[in-house]
Amino acid sequence: MAEKELICSSCKKRVTNASGIARFKCPKCSKSEIIRCMHCREIAAKYTCHECGFAGPN
Ligand SMILES: [Zn+2]
Ligand SMILES: [Zn+2]
Repeated sequence: MAEKELICSSCKKRVTNASGIARFKCPKCSKSEIIRCMHCREIAAKYTCHECGFAGPN
């Protein structure tokens, strides 16, 4: 039972099964998946790609 946990890339909270989250590939390297919870989307919190160091949002 190794269900993958979804962790918000900005606040590091677990957002598995949370509503209103956004998941998308890093716009720069497309290697890692960025996950943002509804709260971080609302406040436009920054995220950083752990593969290439790209920081968003944009
Ligand atoms: Zn968050
Ligand atoms: Zn990246």
